[in-house]
Amino acid sequence: MTDKPRLTVALTIDHDAISDSVRRGDPPVKFSHAEFGPRVGAKRLLELCRRRAIPATWFVPGHTLTTFTDDTEAILAGGHELACHGWFHEDFAELSVDEAREVLARSVEAVRSVTGGEVPAGFRAPYWSLGARTLELVAEAGFSYDSSLMADDYRTYRVRSGDRHSTVDGTTWGHETDLFEVPVYWAMDDWPHFEPGPGRSGLAAPSAVLEIWTEELRYAYENAPGGLVMVTVHPECIGRGHRMAMLERFVDAALALDAVVFDRLDRYLARTTQP
Ligand SMILES: [Zn+2]
Repeated sequence: MTDKPRLTVALTIDHDAISDSVRRGDPPVKFSHAEFGPRVGAKRLLELCRRRAIPATWFVPGHTLTTFTDDTEAILAGGHELACHGWFHEDFAELSVDEAREVLARSVEAVRSVTGGEVPAGFRAPYWSLGARTLELVAEAGFSYDSSLMADDYRTYRVRSGDRHSTVDGTTWGHETDLFEVPVYWAMDDWPHFEPGPGRSGLAAPSAVLEIWTEELRYAYENAPGGLVMVTVHPECIGRGHRMAMLERFVDAALALDAVVFDRLDRYLARTTQP
């Protein structure tokens, strides 16, 4: 690995599997769409990472972690980072403080139990949906970073606490906390491009997504030295053949650039935020 990469690329994989289908009580076809993740997609992603020798960060709900234990073992055996993503893929904006605290503690414990006691560094809110106090609880649970906000693109930043916005008094900024943010964005996520949903057809041509992702790569390479380009993928979505072929092209485009490395988010943060 290069000592100081010009650019780091992070492949982040939200391994939702059937966690939210279980919580919602989804009907059979929707359930089976989710099951494609652990059954097919996750295996293809693990194999791609193995063949290209790239580490990834897996955000895994507790239900997935404890149900699809072969995936959990393969993630750890592959040298990947295991990070948290709710238990049943809950919408944290809808949880009470006590419920959120309980889900976070249970998730941390599940990771500790499969890693010999390691506290997970990362949390990503399911649906990128946060309640007013969620990030405070995330920090309290011992996480060092969140990956659900959008205030930057190629740079991590510290989460602020105590911002006040009022139509009478205007805006007063709060203080920076110890919790880091690794920012996300829809264009860099497979789901809005490829999955049908409210207000969108989904099912984009992989070439269109490859164009967006490689242009981000090129722009960041020129304009954000030392920065991070992150993509978010879901095994049940990216795992389809034509999309895996696109992801492989994206990975190869990144690896073809000089001094570009793939890394886990915990390691990227450790090497860029230490004094
Ligand atoms: Zn998710």
